[in-house]
Amino acid sequence: MTPVPQSFRNTLFWVLGVAFAVYALLSLAGYVLISSQQNAIATTILDEHAGLVASLYVRILVGYLLAGALLAFLLHPFVQGWKAALAAVGVVLLGLLYTLTSETHLLYGPTQTLFCSIHDAIPAWIRALYHPMEIVILFGAFSIWSLHRWTSGVPVRWRFGAAGLVVIGALLQLLPTASAATVQRTSFVLIATDSLRADRLSCNGYPRETTPNIDALAARGTNFANCLVPTASTHESWVSILSSTEPRVNGLRHMFPSRRQVETIQNKQTFLPALLRDEGYQTATIGGWCGTTFGIFDFGVDHVDVSNTQNHRALIAEAAFTNHIVAASFLNNAVGRMLLPELNRVSFTRGASSITGKAERWIEQAAAKDEPFFLTVVHHVTHLPYSASYPYYAQFTDPDYRGRNRYRIDFQIDDMIQRGFEHDLKPEETQHIKDLYDGCVSEFDAQVGAIVQKLKEMGIADRVIVGVIADHGDDLYEHGTTLGHGVSLFGGDQANQIPAVFAGPGVPHRRVEKLVRSFDFAPTWMSWLGQSQRPESWQGVDLAGDIPDLNALLETSYLLYRQPVPDLEPGEKVKDFPKFDQATFLDPDFDHNLVLREELNDRVIETKCFAVREKDWKLIAVPGEGGPIHRLFNLKDDPQCRTNLVSTEPDVYAKLKAQLPEYAR
Ligand SMILES: [Zn+2]
Repeated sequence: MTPVPQSFRNTLFWVLGVAFAVYALLSLAGYVLISSQQNAIATTILDEHAGLVASLYVRILVGYLLAGALLAFLLHPFVQGWKAALAAVGVVLLGLLYTLTSETHLLYGPTQTLFCSIHDAIPAWIRALYHPMEIVILFGAFSIWSLHRWTSGVPVRWRFGAAGLVVIGALLQLLPTASAATVQRTSFVLIATDSLRADRLSCNGYPRETTPNIDALAARGTNFANCLVPTASTHESWVSILSSTEPRVNGLRHMFPSRRQVETIQNKQTFLPALLRDEGYQTATIGGWCGTTFGIFDFGVDHVDVSNTQNHRALIAEAAFTNHIVAASFLNNAVGRMLLPELNRVSFTRGASSITGKAERWIEQAAAKDEPFFLTVVHHVTHLPYSASYPYYAQFTDPDYRGRNRYRIDFQIDDMIQRGFEHDLKPEETQHIKDLYDGCVSEFDAQVGAIVQKLKEMGIADRVIVGVIADHGDDLYEHGTTLGHGVSLFGGDQANQIPAVFAGPGVPHRRVEKLVRSFDFAPTWMSWLGQSQRPESWQGVDLAGDIPDLNALLETSYLLYRQPVPDLEPGEKVKDFPKFDQATFLDPDFDHNLVLREELNDRVIETKCFAVREKDWKLIAVPGEGGPIHRLFNLKDDPQCRTNLVSTEPDVYAKLKAQLPEYAR
């Protein structure tokens, strides 16, 4: 056997040394990150799941060693000794520069600022040079050179034969897969994103051109310009949409259901994807961390590819990889995922374009079969912390802004649990946050454009309905609010109003200004798909025909913090709600998902705010210590809810009050 050359051993020694040093430093940072959290969930993780944390860190170390060994193998023909150490650092830095300046949404805090600033400073023509394919070719060339030297004893024709096989294999991979798209019956692609406000769409009157692709759908399809979700919170909203029921009817009133609650809801409700599956549809959901609801509830979707962020494994992995972005960027591939399946659970490996890519591949496969399909795509780019990729983060922001929210909202989960978001920001600070958000809207719109384009290229666009919705909107410092959703009903409809734009076969071209609700979608979509079933449990109205005058009952969720109620009168005191980290726990009976302590369910409902929306009116009921506190607003004259009309509009007040749940009247 050929002895391992001295040059390789030298290089290996240095490269592994560098890899290990990086690992040790970053592991320490990762541990500090979890242990510095003041909340009870972080303490539980360190107390009860230390083994899992350790196992993850050991496997990340193995990842570093594998990447280090590969690097040594590639470098050793050229360098050895201390030059190898320098070369190793150089290659790692170059790889990092490439990964991190092209995928800046992966980053947090000062690291993100650093790499985004580097990215912005590099001229565009140089940026165009670092394309993944070039890196692949470069590494391929290195590998061939290394192999050539190592196998110098092997006859030439064998070496050429082996190289030929590899090349043929690679070419076969590149060949387009024969996909004869045969969609016969109407299919449906629902492209959703988390926290997208309806009023940020250009087609809904926003002055910036944020959504050219969604506008194009609205221009030929139906745009429900005033659509409300009952609760501005992910789980409640998805369950409501897919079961066509309100939260108070289906029983899901917060984000942290127990196994028993999930099973009860699944047994009692009929979900739209399950109905379509029974009719022969192929069903799938592809998304990132905001698709987590589809991992918790069985809606009758056959192929679910989302990350479950409310699970202890995901929480631990997210914290670890935040500090091991180096390893994660080198290991986000098939080999890395075998070693670290947690990479499938974390959100940063699922950027907007990677979710779109997965969705497009699924559509290709589904369209090649005879059955129609119903695909839901769930993006998170518009969710806090508003971290868009380049060029979207720069699209609407002031290039001279140098504050701490430069590339995303800088906040720690822990601070949010303890205190909520900062109030009283300077106007230029809130403006920058809104500008970042608009960039995220634009990045989402590009995903919609990519999927529409894909359907056109496949020649099936005329047989597929495309829908664009969100699970809820978001607060952006409207009166009495800060950031987030589901924690306040003040400031207007911004947290409950969602985009609802649909286009495709059977969908008429119209713009609907009347109030509609997201639980009306299911019967409407069934109509457009030519399906006649309407389960008795469905509360929604079919919006495919004439639209009646509708009201909406809204309620807040139970999330990490609650927004203080604005403009309280002397003597008015709001009921306390259970503190998040004390009220939830990682339930071993439910795969260590974050679950609300069941004895607190009633308290959570008692401490919710409710609102009735009818035409221009909004009546809000706040749970007060001395009984409900009511505020009546006219949104047409007073869009941010500043002037309480309870005493000046007694008739409207009495009429709307009667529609509140009894305990909120
Ligand atoms: Zn959400």
